[in-house]
Amino acid sequence: MTSIPDISLNNGQTIPQFGFGVFQIQPKDTVAAVSTALKAGYRHIDTAEMYRNEAEVGEAVAKSGLDRGEVFVTSKLKNDAHEPDEARQAFEETLKALGTDYVDLFLIHWPLPTRYGGDFVQTWRTLEEFYREGRARSIGVSNFQPHHLRRLHGETDIIPAVNQIEVYPYFTQDEVRDFCAEHQIAIEGWSPLGQGTVLGDPVIRSIAERAGKTPAQVVLRWHIQRGDIVFPKSVTPDRIKENIDIFDFELSAADVEDITLLNKNERLGFDPDKFAGM
Ligand code: NAD
Repeated sequence: MTSIPDISLNNGQTIPQFGFGVFQIQPKDTVAAVSTALKAGYRHIDTAEMYRNEAEVGEAVAKSGLDRGEVFVTSKLKNDAHEPDEARQAFEETLKALGTDYVDLFLIHWPLPTRYGGDFVQTWRTLEEFYREGRARSIGVSNFQPHHLRRLHGETDIIPAVNQIEVYPYFTQDEVRDFCAEHQIAIEGWSPLGQGTVLGDPVIRSIAERAGKTPAQVVLRWHIQRGDIVFPKSVTPDRIKENIDIFDFELSAADVEDITLLNKNERLGFDPDKFAGM
């Protein structure tokens, strides 16, 4: 069985550095995809209320025969439930859909600085309740910029355990990563393959040929060696297995650097300072 490293979070909990993302997997395909992933050795699933497939994630985990404690499950607060009472209700619905009495990690999905009077601080305080109750073993944020994190730091009690942000070779996010490293906030890189857009890059292809690995494996390995937590998505069984098969080789420091130098500050997703939810 592939050995996936654990990352220690700032609250003493650990998280598998590699997992499976289920964004854009249709509910009807989710049980099969997550089951394939769990059979292939994945032990960390990243879902969200807005992905509408939490129930199917829970079903696949329950059917796997693994103990609940063997699988790290993350979900995220939907954008239209940032008010404390709505957030409490949404969190209840997450637990019910997943069929579990706790999540390993619960995140504010987007800071939404132009909605709710920009008050993501009160939303964070509501997540702190879930953490104190033990119903979220860790809490964190997603798509937060250093200035959002500074506000949480100044006005709340608990430092986010993670910040889940877009990271891939054309968008290396060095500023946010450096800030989070300084404040013991682990980075989770979303869209780690750039949704497939970097796989034809000549630099990545040539490193892959030399390593005897695929471009996807090289890019995922690059993330792992930079220390980020990643969870690529696929519904194709061969790709699900290919993506986890990255723990038997290493990139040289020069290869890691060459991939990092591909950065073009090219965001695929929304700008967190402007995004107002959908
Ligand atoms: P990704 O970078 O994981 O790319 C997925 C796509 O890459 C697949 O649809 C497929 O087309 C291709 N692919 C996957 N494996 C491949 C392989 N081995 N060879 C060739 N092509 C391959 O993109 P993603 O799904 O957007 O991101 C991964 C996860 O990150 C999501 O599922 C979700 O859990 C999370 N995410 C979070 C946010 C957020 O705002 N917090 C936003 C987007 C994604």
